[in-house]
Amino acid sequence: MTPEQILEQCRDLVGQPLGAVAERWKAERPGGRVVAAYPVWTPAELVHAAGMLPLSLLGGGTSVELTHADARFQSFVCSIAKSTLELGFQDIVKGIDGFVFSNICDVARNLGSIYQRNFPGVFVEYLHLPQNSTSPGVTAYAASELRRLAAGFETAFGLTLTEAALTKAIEIYNVVRARVRALYAFRIAEPQKLSTTELYVALRATTLVPPEQAIAWLDALLDGLPRRDARPRDRLRVVIEGAFCEQPPLGLLEVLEEAGCYVVEDDLLLGWRWFTSDVPTDGDPFERLGAAYVNQSVPSSTRHEGREHRSAGLIEKVRRASATAVIFMPAKFCEPALFDYVLMKQGLERAGIPHMIVEFEEKMWTFERTRNEIETFVESMLFD
Ligand code: SF4
Repeated sequence: MTPEQILEQCRDLVGQPLGAVAERWKAERPGGRVVAAYPVWTPAELVHAAGMLPLSLLGGGTSVELTHADARFQSFVCSIAKSTLELGFQDIVKGIDGFVFSNICDVARNLGSIYQRNFPGVFVEYLHLPQNSTSPGVTAYAASELRRLAAGFETAFGLTLTEAALTKAIEIYNVVRARVRALYAFRIAEPQKLSTTELYVALRATTLVPPEQAIAWLDALLDGLPRRDARPRDRLRVVIEGAFCEQPPLGLLEVLEEAGCYVVEDDLLLGWRWFTSDVPTDGDPFERLGAAYVNQSVPSSTRHEGREHRSAGLIEKVRRASATAVIFMPAKFCEPALFDYVLMKQGLERAGIPHMIVEFEEKMWTFERTRNEIETFVESMLFD
């Protein structure tokens, strides 16, 4: 298949209701179970190792009108939390057997409990990921949380999750992540051949299929994209930062590129490419995954690193991608992103890296003001 055909399939899949994606997979596997993972990171390996399908749970995007969820949250709460709850009320996630949330922020913490209370018929688990990465007990603690999740799957669904199956699952997701890293590296090298919306749609689609299918798509893209005929343009190379949980509308990503940017790095769908290198597969797989969470994770506002200034990872990203500027893109009311914005801004200013901020909501549909702001920013850089 050509890259265009694959991207078309991916775009089509991403536009489908999550419950329909789950039901279709289950129709081919009677008795099969599906578990959806709220951002940022949930070990898809555990879900896969138990014989289930892991899916990304990323809110309602532009497709869901809030009719019930608004009444369960304060008005100053991000959109993804409300629309994720609304998916439940409108039966759009019917067919999904379990939901996993984690301690990325207070909103996600409450969302997990609200889900449990409103939908008692489904499995809901809340992962307490480590907050202190420098403690000597951190790896053992992370591994014990993962074991607790595995035990939850076993109790709820009667499935057995063996260490051998988990090791195999880590191996296959290592392959997926390696391919994704290769695709990101390709975009850094030749951004004119792979737009951000294309990369985003491809990556999001890989979070909706079994890893074998994801690898087939990613391999075909890595094979076909270098042959695309596209000349480099005079554009500003930027890094997007802050969109690790609620996802910006595709229209906003398109506007960035139309306004003169090459996005060469981003933190979209971060949890699905969470590790910077392969997770080792020797020894206890729970310990290996737990240790990787602590020592091999990408920098994120939702992971408490404690060893470096919050801007260090971002500045490193800018340098590695040969970017010129940063566009902070936090979701409206996203506390982790907005708290870090202050610290990251200070770090970028010390390093002399220009930046701007573009706040978004997943249901945002008009981009003209944003387009003007980005165009002005780009022109001030390119024609300085
Ligand atoms: S968008 Fe931000 S505030 Fe909202 S759930 Fe995600 S991390 Fe928390």
